[in-house]
Amino acid sequence: MPPELPFLPFALPDTGEEEIAEVSEAIRSGWITTGPKAKRFERDFGMFLGDTQLHCMAVNSATAGLHLALEALGVGPGDEVITTTHTFTATAEVVRYLGADVVLVDVDWRTLCIDVRQLEAAITTRTKAVIPVHYAGLSADMTTLMAIACKHGLKVVEDAAHALPTTSDGRLVGTLDSDITVFSFYANKTISTGEGGMVVTRDTSLAERIKVMRLHGINRDAFDRFRSTKPAWYYEVIAPGFKYNMTDIAAGMGIAQLAKLPRFVARRQYLAERYGERLASLPLLLPALPPPGEIHAWHLYVIRLTEDATISRDALIQALSDKGIGTSVHYIPLHRQPYWRDRYGLNAQMFPHSEAAYQRMLSIPLFTAMDDSDQDRVIAALYELLS
Ligand SMILES: *Cc1c(COP(=O)(O)O)cnc(C)c1O
Repeated sequence: MPPELPFLPFALPDTGEEEIAEVSEAIRSGWITTGPKAKRFERDFGMFLGDTQLHCMAVNSATAGLHLALEALGVGPGDEVITTTHTFTATAEVVRYLGADVVLVDVDWRTLCIDVRQLEAAITTRTKAVIPVHYAGLSADMTTLMAIACKHGLKVVEDAAHALPTTSDGRLVGTLDSDITVFSFYANKTISTGEGGMVVTRDTSLAERIKVMRLHGINRDAFDRFRSTKPAWYYEVIAPGFKYNMTDIAAGMGIAQLAKLPRFVARRQYLAERYGERLASLPLLLPALPPPGEIHAWHLYVIRLTEDATISRDALIQALSDKGIGTSVHYIPLHRQPYWRDRYGLNAQMFPHSEAAYQRMLSIPLFTAMDDSDQDRVIAALYELLS
């Protein structure tokens, strides 16, 4: 690797003076916890999704949002919640927070989203909900999934951590017919607030429960207390809630990032298309494309080595790293993680698609702040190592 080239990570946030201005304004205003910026971010988010009927609730992580979503839906001990093995542990851990059990199923080989036939086969009388993950930013098969959920009376919570913005049948994820959708603003997601998330629902009573539980089970948030006609010191605790509210410092970043999202989307699409064209002749299985006219968020660009490749996945990751190129693996499947494996007696044979994908996959650099020459470095390195 020529020594003058800096290390190219697989992801980096894209922030600038706009984020600094919004965050500084929050700090200078003296209101740094949940307040006017969080409200504004929620309103802007609803406007981005283009549906005024939606309740958008900012929280301090998507993990917190998924927990709140399942709590509001009444998931508890004795219940089962189905999701895929090919996800981050946060998707499943929230089920255990509530004392319910996780049922993991395999993914579709091509999309790495939930295999809807496996979903239907895993439903029991205890199944309460399903959590589809829109893997890498491509929508799960929501039409089939919603029909199955409807037929069996299951709740649906979308893990949309990768899916801003993603469409299914021309509709943005967040406006579909599921019960609740949860987005993430973790550092490497398509927009970031450092840490943060957004819970979205059309159901007013679910929204009320989520708002109460995200702030200690108090029936009005702190900001409202200062504007209400009731005395400022008065509040009521109606449940043992959580501490999951988003600060105005984080929300300031979110406001600035959301305003840039249309540009971010275009850049990610451009980079993904360019990878698609230039890597086509290598011994790689490239990511599944969305159906014509649908939006893929391209949070991740996941390639898989085919049988023809003469280098192993681990050796390829090491060789790229030696050339100053960062990669990652999304994900080490949950069935391989000690906690999930041991609790549910899982093994690789139960999840052939996830397992085979895991052994051959890597995520290569894709982020809006990289320029074409950064991408050319990745492409050239892959040519050198694979052809
Ligand atoms: C990032 C991520 C989460 C968790 O998001 P946080 O905001 O970090 O809590 C959940 N599920 C998936 C699929 C993710 O990629």
